Amino acid sequence: MEEEWGRGLVGSWEAWIDLPERVGELIGTALLGAHPRETIVADSTTVNFYRLAHAALSLRPGRGVILSDAGGFPTNRYVLEGLAQALGRTLVLVEFDPVEGPTVDRLAAALDERVALVALSHVDYRSGALADLAAITAAAHAAGALTLWDLSHSVGAVPIDLAGAGVDLAVGCTYKYLNGGPGAPAFQYVGRALQEELRQPIQGWFGQRDQFAMGPAYEPAPGIARTLSGTPPVLALMAVEEGARIVAEAGVGPLRAKSVALTERLIGLADDRLAGLGVTVGSPRDPARRGGHVALRHPAALGLSAALVDRGLVVCDFRPPDVLRAAPVPLYTRHRDVEEAVERIAGTLAKGVPRNVRRPGRVT
Ligand SMILES: *Cc1c(COP(=O)(O)O)cnc(C)c1O
Repeated sequence: MEEEWGRGLVGSWEAWIDLPERVGELIGTALLGAHPRETIVADSTTVNFYRLAHAALSLRPGRGVILSDAGGFPTNRYVLEGLAQALGRTLVLVEFDPVEGPTVDRLAAALDERVALVALSHVDYRSGALADLAAITAAAHAAGALTLWDLSHSVGAVPIDLAGAGVDLAVGCTYKYLNGGPGAPAFQYVGRALQEELRQPIQGWFGQRDQFAMGPAYEPAPGIARTLSGTPPVLALMAVEEGARIVAEAGVGPLRAKSVALTERLIGLADDRLAGLGVTVGSPRDPARRGGHVALRHPAALGLSAALVDRGLVVCDFRPPDVLRAAPVPLYTRHRDVEEAVERIAGTLAKGVPRNVRRPGRVT
């Protein structure tokens, strides 16, 4: 900030103009199993999801159906609903098992030659169910559909192999396991095979072939750069670079091994100490089918989470209708933190959970 912005002023643009590519390259190659030049950072997850879903529908003009998850993350459903309305397509939301999440078997009944796009989350934001990305991608391709994966809850927590699975498109946020901080920009991935035919709806100067020629008409830049629109948020991007760098340095393999140990411990303790207090586990029991967080279900989960957060006991989330979401992030959570958290949840439940809680995180 002092050198480039303070002294170099606008002339420092050359120092940061390539940041979206540079940070995208780090995330893509170290954490997503992407080939070089398939990943870039820009905008929010929601905007990137819109951009790539729109691009996918343009690539499948004769197909009228978008398939997604009825229990999926709200922003994805809202974006697809709006796109379906605007472009005259039909959004079909498949009901998957609330604990086990999307499976090929359940999807198969809805997958046919009318489907343009299958858009799903890799790890379910509530249950933590880990979808079989490779099998679902293969099933979608067999039906002639494109795939768009939201990796927000899996990047940095579970190994991902986008190139190996032949994934078409993906997005994800950088402020969950990647520690990019509040409002950190998101990444987007476009597989090599699609890049040269991909057209995106937010045609801005950062996605233009010869940006500084200031020419009369839009012509998309070659490669992944065509998915950019406007000026990147430079300060936020530098924070994402550090967050992703630390996760890459720790390595997704060791992080996943510790994450599995932590969530196994959490589930074991929940069975031992919390089941008698009305808590059930709302995540897959098989660690191979689970991401990095665990859903603890309780009828008074809203009041429970508010008490835990308000009293500074456990940092957790409430997700309607009855889920307390606990994410023992492996980079900085210790086994004894998990043990302590379960004791604090048990203590709070034993004393009685506050009523009249109106919103998550606040007792009053
Ligand atoms: C956190 C999350 C997002 C975040 O979207 P923003 O546009 O960054 O607010 C999107 N999708 C999923 C599945 C998420 O978990």
